[in-house]
Amino acid sequence: MSMNLENLYKQILMDHYKKPRNYGKKEGILTLPYKNPTCGDVMVLYLNVDESGKIQDISFEGEGCSISMASCSMMTEIIKGKTVAEAEKLISQFNAMIKEGVIEDEDALGDAVALSGVHKLRARHNCSLLGWNGLEKAIKQRAETVSGTNSHCN
Ligand code: ZN
Repeated sequence: MSMNLENLYKQILMDHYKKPRNYGKKEGILTLPYKNPTCGDVMVLYLNVDESGKIQDISFEGEGCSISMASCSMMTEIIKGKTVAEAEKLISQFNAMIKEGVIEDEDALGDAVALSGVHKLRARHNCSLLGWNGLEKAIKQRAETVSGTNSHCN
């Protein structure tokens, strides 16, 4: 990675950390507080999914290191307005970038690409995945609530 790109990524990360997007409590599905045992990051996610499966609104609250909080902020920005199916695809793309160092679709990942360097920092993998794991959990939680009533509708 060139130094310039690395600096740019650092700036994007710090910008999200200092001015987190979609921060604060909102109405919707509340995920249980999600904790990263490795460095003590905590996060709560609020998700509002409409009947068609579109994520109308998403926000988070939390406390943690710059990587975890910036990653949550980036995640909410990317996910807002997407369908649950699209969100699941993005979760797996982000996981591939962090765990395998593979970027499938740079445009789709938006600002989160700034976290690609975390791949080399094994101890920080859980920090960067905090928000995304929380989202995955929230989607599963929603599926359980929805199933039984109209499970075959989407
Ligand atoms: Zn952390």
